[in-house]
Amino acid sequence: ASAWSNVPQGPSDAILGITEAFKADSFKEKINLGVGAYRDDKGKPYVLPSVRAAEDKVVASRLDKEYAGITGVPTFTTAAAELAYGADSSAIKDNRLVITQTISGTGALRIGGAFLKQFYPGAKKVYLPNPSWANHKAVFSDSGLEVAQYRYYNKDTIGLDFEGLIADIKAAPEGSIILLHACAHNPTGVDPTQAQWRQVSDVMKQKGHFAFFDMAYQGFASGNADQDAFAPRHFVKEGHNIALCQSFAKNMGLYGERVGAFSLVCENAEEKKRVDSQIKILIRPFYSNPPIHGARIASTIMNDPALNKQWLSEVEGMAGRIIEMRSLLRTNLEKLGSKHDWSHITSQIGMFAYTGLKPEQMDALAKEHSVYATKDGRISVAGITSANVQRLAESIFKVTG
Ligand code: PMP
Repeated sequence: ASAWSNVPQGPSDAILGITEAFKADSFKEKINLGVGAYRDDKGKPYVLPSVRAAEDKVVASRLDKEYAGITGVPTFTTAAAELAYGADSSAIKDNRLVITQTISGTGALRIGGAFLKQFYPGAKKVYLPNPSWANHKAVFSDSGLEVAQYRYYNKDTIGLDFEGLIADIKAAPEGSIILLHACAHNPTGVDPTQAQWRQVSDVMKQKGHFAFFDMAYQGFASGNADQDAFAPRHFVKEGHNIALCQSFAKNMGLYGERVGAFSLVCENAEEKKRVDSQIKILIRPFYSNPPIHGARIASTIMNDPALNKQWLSEVEGMAGRIIEMRSLLRTNLEKLGSKHDWSHITSQIGMFAYTGLKPEQMDALAKEHSVYATKDGRISVAGITSANVQRLAESIFKVTG
């Protein structure tokens, strides 16, 4: 018998299924709202002009293709740290930040998971918001950590269940690991306010919890990279020695280049040195060292003042288009006379909107209107354009009554 004759068929990815159904549909005005990538107003993938310019510079400089060190391209990680924490952060100034380049945000989560599994002194269990990005559970389980949930989303208000969140964080045993989406929570688009973040920080400090931030959308949420980094920066100011995962997939549109970073704020420079040595030991058997091209592009952008400025305004442009599509979708629904409250479409933030539509309504959207998205009612606002927003609103109106 073949060595693999006992390998069972696994379930296919939920998003891939949507893409297949979308491709198979011959209706010309079909709409794909499953994609987790930015699209321009023509519905096309978008390469940022600052990224094109930086890539041209990288290519023109005829750099060699030698290996990077285990923790990646140093000019990249230094700039990534400043982008996330702010150049004046005590974590950077006191030389107590460990940072490594990673295989985008997913790789950052996986390295973080591996480090916690090996060195976290408390319970090796991560609390995720309910719901969370589907891959979180897989990544942390794969890292050998237990996974639990805390309340986050209130389906009655289509908003944040702040009381539930605080109650669950208070109820978790002292020293628990809590995963927090820094901004643009995926899949709900529901974020705590700054005042609420302050309370979360206070409660976590009282309980001695460990804050593990996933920041996959810095700049992409509000259009302002500093504003979107409020939560992790506030935690650091409050004395939390946080972990932070960064992705440049969305904010630089570098999806397939796999550019990211994982960092840990340490107590002091001496601790940093020890932690850094162990991060290197963990990464080495995973993939030795990360790919250099995408990191060179990101580094070129962040280290060139003119390109950096251009990039920040392009991020603002992407965020602005998303915000505009949210508001167009809402006004179109209201114009049609929908009796539902659609205010959550514009109060939510980031790439996704959690519509509150039920699985059967999502089915009807696909079957009767050729509008494709996940069954949980999440739609990718990036898939909305000024040309399709009206037909989308009509379709949603028809299935929600
Ligand atoms: N975390 C969250 C919450 C995400 O939404 C994503 C992207 N979908 C990621 C991490 C990681 O993405 P990537 O590995 O492409 O950077």
